[in-house]
Amino acid sequence: MESAWQPNRHPAGAGRSGAGRAEKPVRTAAERTRRAPADQTTVRRSNLVLVLRHLRDMGPRTRAQIAAETGLNKATVSSLVAELVQRGLVREGTVLREGSIGRPGQVVELDGHGVCGVGLEVNVDYVAAIVLNLRGDVISESSMGLDVPRLGPDGALDALADVAREAIRAAADSGATPVGVTVAIPGLVDVAQGVLTFAPNLRWRDVPVVEALLERLERPTYPVRVDNDANLSALAEYLMGGSPDVSNLVYLTGEVGVGGGVIVDGRLLRGVEGFSGEVGHMPFGSAQHVCGCGRRGCWETAVGLAALLRAVADPDDPVREPVRGLEPRLAEIKRRAEGGDERTLAALQQIGAALGLGASVLVNLFNPRAVVLGGYFATLGQYFLEPAMAELRARVLAPDAAGCRLELSTLGFTAAVRGGAHVALEAVLADPTLVPATDRRSLSSTSGLG
Ligand SMILES: [Zn+2]
Repeated sequence: MESAWQPNRHPAGAGRSGAGRAEKPVRTAAERTRRAPADQTTVRRSNLVLVLRHLRDMGPRTRAQIAAETGLNKATVSSLVAELVQRGLVREGTVLREGSIGRPGQVVELDGHGVCGVGLEVNVDYVAAIVLNLRGDVISESSMGLDVPRLGPDGALDALADVAREAIRAAADSGATPVGVTVAIPGLVDVAQGVLTFAPNLRWRDVPVVEALLERLERPTYPVRVDNDANLSALAEYLMGGSPDVSNLVYLTGEVGVGGGVIVDGRLLRGVEGFSGEVGHMPFGSAQHVCGCGRRGCWETAVGLAALLRAVADPDDPVREPVRGLEPRLAEIKRRAEGGDERTLAALQQIGAALGLGASVLVNLFNPRAVVLGGYFATLGQYFLEPAMAELRARVLAPDAAGCRLELSTLGFTAAVRGGAHVALEAVLADPTLVPATDRRSLSSTSGLG
């Protein structure tokens, strides 16, 4: 079963900056190679993984360098690289002259233009898609404003399928073949079954998202997965966010609902049933407000998007009209804050403090290096940081907020779809043979090298 992505199949931090990181995977795979000589196919596949990940993590290299750094012999590396080139995952780069010693070597590098991962998202007021190639470059990105609770699962999944088809078409136009689709949803997700169990703010229960999408996309050959939006956002933040080397973090989605994704020592914390991170329903709000889940006083009723809009403006204010789109409305709130509007500033201060209150519990529990604020928390984050940090300092037992920083996500509202695309691509990094070899790439250029 490959539904639940394990971020630690490669060691914590692989793929991020930092010299010496390659040492551990190199040794592990080499050991595996020695232990299982009987199964040549398995050995070959794990060596392909080793070389592909090495190029992803360490950048362009000569075959001789790859051999020296991985412990594989040069002939094996040449053969592995040739296969990865055939599969369109690696390409020949420029010729590197290595000082005065030795022959100049031709560099090989991650190609990955031929494969892509598709990340999709359904949220309360939009559906979105992103397509990333193996190098992490954005091939296409789109979103569509929608009233998802009103549309219901069938209508919203129709719209999602439209956005997905458009994304897949854009991928094809760029010459990239999808290797998987992952849908992000703000709710409890049974990842293994591909079913959304409960999404309070969408008002969805027991929706077989994967099956519904497979049907609408006419049963593609690549896998379709579904996962919680905060989990996927946390993975994206960990793997491609603004703070390198943070392998302990809590990501908070700032949407109508507030979800948490927790990364501990480079691993996503899922819990026994996969339902961890439902931080929006911690009872830190006022009993006055009913949550989408039906309870009173959930944290998201104090810090979610609805709380913000309620605090900054009267019901007839244009910033409370969903049809105007979220980003322009947030821009207007920011404009008011910059202009010194007292009501806006007081509201932002109040939400920042409420944000810090809940975050202090998470810091006391997990002692992360960073609590990363996503979604609208990031858009208006400059106004939240000070009051939230004051709460953290006051309420976290360990000195100096246990060394935790509050950070604004640089991924904006795209964190969840990026995480989803990454999960889809991870399958290729775990098994490059999933991508068929093609004849269009000549191998003649590799001869005489390595
Ligand atoms: Zn709730």
